[in-house]
Amino acid sequence: AKGSGRNGVALFESSMQADAERKLTLERDLALALENGELAMHLQLQVDHAQAPVGAELLMRWRRADGVLVPPDVFIPIAESSGLIVPLGNWVLRQACAAWHRLAGAGHPMPLSINVSPAQFRQPDFVDQVRAVLQETAAPAGQLIFEVTEGLLVTDLDDTIARMHELAGLGIRFSVDDFGTGYSNLAYLKKMPLYELKIDKSFIRDTPNDVNGTAIVQSILAMADHLGLRVVAEGIETAQQARYLADNGSPCMQGYLFSRPAPLEDLLAALDKTGAA
Ligand code: C2E
Ligand code: CA
Ligand code: CA
Ligand code: CA
Repeated sequence: AKGSGRNGVALFESSMQADAERKLTLERDLALALENGELAMHLQLQVDHAQAPVGAELLMRWRRADGVLVPPDVFIPIAESSGLIVPLGNWVLRQACAAWHRLAGAGHPMPLSINVSPAQFRQPDFVDQVRAVLQETAAPAGQLIFEVTEGLLVTDLDDTIARMHELAGLGIRFSVDDFGTGYSNLAYLKKMPLYELKIDKSFIRDTPNDVNGTAIVQSILAMADHLGLRVVAEGIETAQQARYLADNGSPCMQGYLFSRPAPLEDLLAALDKTGAA
């Protein structure tokens, strides 16, 4: 029994070590991914109740040189803990500005949403960097929506709010991503220059069949209405979910039912085909 106990511990340690090594390898590869051109942006349309496009979210993709696709849920946390999220986030912002020009040039100007992680947002010179990229690319700030998570809204609230107002002064709009999954200070929401709440797909999944999920969706819709915010419901996969949300006043939807995240070229081709704005 004593021996197996020691073995148990040894096994545990070695798997923790394997985890740590995997993480280090990923971190090293990710640092090179940007310069090796292994990163790409996909865009996913957001539509209104009539299924007309109202915008798109940019989602990062990493295909390693060996062909393996590393999911963002794996590499974004590594980028955050290693600080790599700063150059990556900057790259995403540039990609968004370039994509906006491409879309506008093709007759489809639309607001673009990008995910901004807390580590990126808290960089001392974040506002300056955003200002510089906007100047350099001549992209209209009013066409960019920064999706921030509730993780940003739990600590350093006064600094966060001040910085949000600074960026809002440039024209940037803010969306609270994955709303309802975190512990944001609801009293503070009113002090933030917010434009939108995004209902996380975990609440949409069992809507309208599951009572708990539906109750959360309902209360987010009510809160957004009260605060005068737009709502985007993400992860819409079925016509039933779409109908439920439209019937309950959510004007904007995003999900596989309408469009899958895809490269800009594919999005442009799809937009040209439907002739939609
Ligand atoms: P998120 O911001 O909540 O993005 C929504 C996720 O749901 C995306 O996963 C999207 O592909 C997926 N999705 C969209 N429609 C549907 C649907 O109908 N059904 C289902 N099951 N899923 C759907 P993805 O692309 O794997 O990204 C995962 C997360 O990684 C994102 O969650 C976001 O937190 C993070 N992420 C992605 N790109 C970036 C980025 O450029 N910067 C930062 N900081 N984070 C990013
Ligand atoms: Ca998002
Ligand atoms: Ca998220
Ligand atoms: Ca989400």
